[in-house]
Amino acid sequence: MVPLLAYVGLGANLGDPADTVRTAIEALARMPASRVEAVSALYRSAPIDAEGPEFVNAVVALHTTLSAYELLAQLQAIEAEFGRERPYQNAPRTLDLDLLLYGDREIASDDLTVPHPRMHQRAFVLRPLAELAGDGLVIGGHGSIASLLPLVAAQPITRLETA
Ligand code: ADP
Ligand code: MG
Repeated sequence: MVPLLAYVGLGANLGDPADTVRTAIEALARMPASRVEAVSALYRSAPIDAEGPEFVNAVVALHTTLSAYELLAQLQAIEAEFGRERPYQNAPRTLDLDLLLYGDREIASDDLTVPHPRMHQRAFVLRPLAELAGDGLVIGGHGSIASLLPLVAAQPITRLETA
């Protein structure tokens, strides 16, 4: 199978979130049949539709021969390793891993929607994704990152110098 380029979004807002994101990137690099190609800077953002302290976010590009569902299962296993508890929707979480893009595939099932259904509304996804993919990347049905960034310009977000 030809490897596909997938983008994974990371977010953490409990404990030491920057440390959690860095450690999670190492866990992504250990997934089977996958190779990390690029890692964005870390970004600090205020919570949207969620409670608790600020988030640290990043995006990782990886080549993988896993299916989208296999990749989602790997991401969920890593989330579980990091002790994510979900007592209620949008509760603060140790680690959130989202499958943002899987090649140019569009998937709509009960367990998996790709492109991730809210990614185009989130500065903490669009900014790091633009670093890796360029702002000309089109997010199926929503236009290019360049056209979406002005719509999220009010969302407070800071790029941290080092990943
Ligand atoms: P969000 O990431 O939007 O804040 P959650 O992480 O709480 O929300 O949602 C997790 C659920 O979303 C999982 O049950 C998973 O099956 C589903 N899901 C659907 N599409 C995706 C995707 N592209 N990436 C990750 N999870 C997804
Ligand atoms: Mg998620």
